Amino acid sequence: MAARNTNGNMPNAHLHELFVDELKDILGAERQLLKGLKKLATTAQNQKLQQAFETHYEQTEGHIDRLKSVFSTLGMTPRGKKCKAMEGLLKEAEEIADEFEDSPEVLDAALIAAAQKVEHYEIASYGCLVTYARLMEHTEAEELLATTLAEEKDTDVLLTTIAMKEANTGQVA
Ligand code: FE
Ligand code: FE
Repeated sequence: MAARNTNGNMPNAHLHELFVDELKDILGAERQLLKGLKKLATTAQNQKLQQAFETHYEQTEGHIDRLKSVFSTLGMTPRGKKCKAMEGLLKEAEEIADEFEDSPEVLDAALIAAAQKVEHYEIASYGCLVTYARLMEHTEAEELLATTLAEEKDTDVLLTTIAMKEANTGQVA
């Protein structure tokens, strides 16, 4: 079933172009995010937060690999395009980090807010992609995308935990 892709036999073929377009957008977004996560990790004060950003950097490399595999299951060469939303989210992250650079007790809270906005964007994108893959019966692609979606959700939860336990309480550890 996974082999059926660009031909007219698959169910919900009208979604195919949108699916590919969204795949290109999120591939671009993940690549842009790599740079952003590096910056977030070096700016974070709290050690656990730093670690969370470093771990998510590694996971993001995995997300890129998985997206490449998704393109392969469709018989396509992986191609990303610039994601304007991610560009904006990362610009805002930089802005807010600059604004609070002299207030270490609130800087991490600002970084977490910025990072969670990124995660929520990714969760929305992967959520839609999983749905499209399921509707078109691209089973292999669906599994790959669902694995990444779960990691994005875990990261979001981890950031909330760090915020609640320490970063937003002003403890610099
Ligand atoms: Fe990701
Ligand atoms: Fe992410």
